[in-house]
Amino acid sequence: MKTPIYFDNHATTPMDPRVLEAMLPYFSEKFGNAASRNHAYGWESEQAVETARKQIAALIGANPKEIVFTSGATESNNLALKGVAEMYAERGNHIITVATEHKAVLDTCKKLEKHGCQVTYLPLQQDGLVDLDQLRESFTNRTILVSIMYANNEIGVIQPVAEIGKMCKERGVLFHTDGVQAVGKIPVDVQRDNIDLMSLTGHKIYGPKGVGALYVRRRNPRVQLTAQIDGGGHERGMRSGTLNTPGIVGFGKAAELCHQEMAEESVRLRELRDRLKVRLESELDEVFINGSMEHRLPHNLNMSFAYVEGESLLMGINDIAVSSGSACTSATLEPSYVLKALGVGDDLAHTSIRFGIGRFNTVEEVDYVANRVIETVRKLRDLSPLYEMAKEGIDISKIEWVAEAAH
Ligand SMILES: *Cc1c(COP(=O)(O)O)cnc(C)c1O
Repeated sequence: MKTPIYFDNHATTPMDPRVLEAMLPYFSEKFGNAASRNHAYGWESEQAVETARKQIAALIGANPKEIVFTSGATESNNLALKGVAEMYAERGNHIITVATEHKAVLDTCKKLEKHGCQVTYLPLQQDGLVDLDQLRESFTNRTILVSIMYANNEIGVIQPVAEIGKMCKERGVLFHTDGVQAVGKIPVDVQRDNIDLMSLTGHKIYGPKGVGALYVRRRNPRVQLTAQIDGGGHERGMRSGTLNTPGIVGFGKAAELCHQEMAEESVRLRELRDRLKVRLESELDEVFINGSMEHRLPHNLNMSFAYVEGESLLMGINDIAVSSGSACTSATLEPSYVLKALGVGDDLAHTSIRFGIGRFNTVEEVDYVANRVIETVRKLRDLSPLYEMAKEGIDISKIEWVAEAAH
């Protein structure tokens, strides 16, 4: 078994060897510019790009003409939000989103607020789901866009996207979803879900980094966007720039593989995830799952381990690549804003671990990870006076601490 074991598949996925194989010729002999209309080199690249467009469209129930290639989901989110805000400025300036969106949406909203947009940031319920009644009450006659992610990258919670899409449709408001974590993992269908815009990226579905797409609905309604990158009018004028042919070919191949294998793969990954969950829950006490288990991506587990110190826990399992609920931003240790939004306290947020299981993980790896986490948590708790006191039935929240803080 190769360590560190990679259990961070929400951050990025390793590229599938079949994807690499499909890409390789486009780095060398098939080097043409897909926009070159006058010769075979260009046609060959254009053909490859159109194949990828079909493969990606097929995965989400779209028409290939509705796929706009970008450099990744960060750009797609920017294009969706800024492009709509600019294009529909006369109709309104109000956007509804959720406090636990990816920073590519939240920071874009912050920027738009500086330019006169009004943004409503909906809170989450304790299980990580949006309250649909609260969403319904948030619409105003100036609302032009709702942007709510399909599935969360930290807690894996899947939002009621079809209901949200329906609600937007009834009101004539555009619906954008950041589909990065859901597409290729669970069935996503832009028709069924009434999605008008959706952000995608290659590197979360076993494809290459630096290539993504924005799904832009063409019919019922025909969504218009103000381009954010001008020059040459590529991608139907919505995103100029010479296309990254090898990247796009790889993204397309990755989408095709997901389309073919998703049904089986999600069953296998769910079994692995549940195997890990059962081990941790049965062999450790005082562990807490963050977010709904019912509405959740099959390969995600996000768990907090009480009475251990977050840093020590991560250090203790440094042969496993996972993400924790604390983000080291500059000098401070900030608890994850997603867990905070669920109402998870700072202590439990700091000791949370996100396990993201992927295509190339095995049962042996799951067992190894379970063993290492169990052993490390037990060892740390053996050293923890708080854990001991809690076990003796002392209510720690009622203790009056007398020690002076050193800082
Ligand atoms: C990774 C991720 C992004 C950013 O995608 P890039 O292609 O890396 O820019 C956006 N949204 C979500 C939910 C993500 O997980």
